Amino acid sequence: MLSWRIGEVTVTRVVEMEMPVVHNPLRAFLAEATPEALREIPWLFPHYVTPEGHLRLSIHALLVEAPGLRLVVDTCIGNDRPRSLVGGQALSTDFLKSFEATGWTRDSVDAVVCTHLHVDHVGWNTMKEGDRWVPTFPKARYLIGRREYDHWSAEGDAEQQAILSDSIRPVFDAGLVDLVEMDHVISPEIRLVPTPGHTPGHVSVRIESGGEVGLITGDMVHHPCQMAHPEWSPPFDSDPAASAVMRREVFEGAADQPILVIGTHFAAPTAGHVRRDGDAYRFDGAPSASPEA
Ligand SMILES: [Zn+2]
Repeated sequence: MLSWRIGEVTVTRVVEMEMPVVHNPLRAFLAEATPEALREIPWLFPHYVTPEGHLRLSIHALLVEAPGLRLVVDTCIGNDRPRSLVGGQALSTDFLKSFEATGWTRDSVDAVVCTHLHVDHVGWNTMKEGDRWVPTFPKARYLIGRREYDHWSAEGDAEQQAILSDSIRPVFDAGLVDLVEMDHVISPEIRLVPTPGHTPGHVSVRIESGGEVGLITGDMVHHPCQMAHPEWSPPFDSDPAASAVMRREVFEGAADQPILVIGTHFAAPTAGHVRRDGDAYRFDGAPSASPEA
């Protein structure tokens, strides 16, 4: 299990699944990221791209332990719900076992943040109990972005409505939701920063403690290859041009600074530092604070 320290704060990665994305020119995740184009970026190998030239992606939750606060950032896809992202199948993973292997219990979580309301960021908000969806973290406040929630309530397609209904609505019904603004301060160490573009209400999570700084990206960037090419936007970005501008802005702000950038979909080592590289950037992975279990 990978984990990192930022001052007094610890961030631990709990993986739901890892997947290579085979480049399909007709339905590309990143159209420009062909195996040939990726071979031009040698530092992506071997961690972030397979020897065949396919992008490696990870779907994981990040457990943030700060003084007086246990916070889960993003809750993956979740079990028992068919989703097109995984071929229309319902997952049945050991995610909760992996979660408990960190020493946390579901009851010990104080807060949950979804960087945005896409399928792979909200799933374990809930779990199936009999034929009911119940909150996975029954004692947590679920911090849902007001802008994001309003957007998807009005504009989501049928699958997005299903996501709201099984992964968001039950936590509202349990009285656990706080609708928050995009710059919400969660604790003295942890706050949201607006990074719209991927979705209209998208946020990243900034950690500051003991003079150290960390940034959990959410999906303002999906893959480290976008540091070499901030202009590469996936077609499912709500506003691909705006997301490209946002990437360049965030990378420029982090470049050559002592800021630990933790990628929400980056394969291991997952966290690291942004370095300037010509007129773009590269990702310099940081070792974990604890050995991989
Ligand atoms: Zn995602």
